[in-house]
Amino acid sequence: MTAGQNNKVVVIGSGESGTGAALLAKKLNLDVFVSDGAAIPDRYKELLIDNKIPFEEGGHHIDLLSNVGLVLKSPGVPEESEVMQRIRESGVKVISEIEFASLHYSGTILAVTGSNGKTTTSGLLYHLLHTAGLDVGIAGNYGDSFAAFIAKEPTPFVVLEVSSFQLDDIDTFRPNIAILLNITPDHLDRYSYKMENYVASKFRINMNQEEGDHFIVNGDDAEITSYRKTHELRANVIDITAGDYENGVLSKDGQKFDMAIKGRHNLFNARCAVEACRILGISESDIARGLATFRNLPHRLETVAVIDGVEIINDSKATNVDSVYYALEAMDKPVVWIAGGTDKGNDYSAIEELVRHKVKALVCMGMDNSKLRKAFDGKVEKIVETQSVQEAVKLAKSMAEEGDVILLSPACASFDLFKNYVDRGEKFKLAVFDF
Ligand code: ADP
Repeated sequence: MTAGQNNKVVVIGSGESGTGAALLAKKLNLDVFVSDGAAIPDRYKELLIDNKIPFEEGGHHIDLLSNVGLVLKSPGVPEESEVMQRIRESGVKVISEIEFASLHYSGTILAVTGSNGKTTTSGLLYHLLHTAGLDVGIAGNYGDSFAAFIAKEPTPFVVLEVSSFQLDDIDTFRPNIAILLNITPDHLDRYSYKMENYVASKFRINMNQEEGDHFIVNGDDAEITSYRKTHELRANVIDITAGDYENGVLSKDGQKFDMAIKGRHNLFNARCAVEACRILGISESDIARGLATFRNLPHRLETVAVIDGVEIINDSKATNVDSVYYALEAMDKPVVWIAGGTDKGNDYSAIEELVRHKVKALVCMGMDNSKLRKAFDGKVEKIVETQSVQEAVKLAKSMAEEGDVILLSPACASFDLFKNYVDRGEKFKLAVFDF
């Protein structure tokens, strides 16, 4: 593709997506320049230097807009930022990295979005297809960005994990099979605190689909159902509802597939992935092999150890209330629950009943635990507080008895005490083995 009247392309932001977009632009012989308002992480800077891509960091200093035909915007760059406002005023065409990448890909796209379960479902779908012998890759928010995937050696099929931010600046991006898992409040700060804006963003995954494409959606999700009352969807829409998986994920002849991942939410995720496989003609025996051998990434209901008859589970990726709902629902033993961190405007009422029934003790682990304490005071027998993960594990262990489970499922972001959810999960696991 050309970039307007000239070849000059500016990439705003240089994380995984921005660097990927720059690499693809370079491969296409476009005159590309990268500009990041903050410091560029070393690994990306090295890639830019190795590929002779000019860049600036720590601010947008260069007159970005002179002779620019196209701006590629990283999903992390907010629309309200000064640089984006300047770009929008100039009228230069702006697209997202995923849009740019899709213009240069002619294979089959399977795209997964939703508020929770994107990584699990994308990883599982990739695993099922790969196990079945398909030449498939995985990209987007999972591993390489879509653009970096294309700049390397693209496979004829790709599974893409797609966030709402990535969908915001698409134009023609059109998945052959799209999966919309669920929509619950998240990232509302980026959507003028309006749920309808966030919902509309998620539905953009379907906006360019046509007859012959497939759109697998959660038929029980209130936001999805309500949006559909006023919006016509394109593509062949397939609703997955509780009846399709509540007795397990079943083969076409009614046999229950074996799966290592736990919880009702994972039955749903798996059911969606299986639907996509069937559309592609994958056999039931290949699906069975894939489901039986899939192991999720760490930090998602990950059993870390069983110590003195107490199972210890790391669900550090549960950074919102909805994901904790599904974690607690999946627990069939009394729970000592470790939660807390940076509050995202949490409303705990949705999990109150589950907590009353399943949680015997709560360890609040955050800089400020007042909101969590207030939500569960009088509803959980024992509540204790700490700001240290070692102490949290020690306290949890002292309150747990044989047959209980210790569950780290924070419902909050991690930035008050940790670098990110991975850091929190890793430190939790180290603390578990530190006894
Ligand atoms: P994402 O990539 O959307 O953040 P992950 O697969 O990484 O999703 O899972 C994030 C958290 O959400 C985990 O705690 C996981 O147990 C939970 N989760 C996974 N699938 C679902 C689902 N379908 N509905 C609700 N929560 C889910």
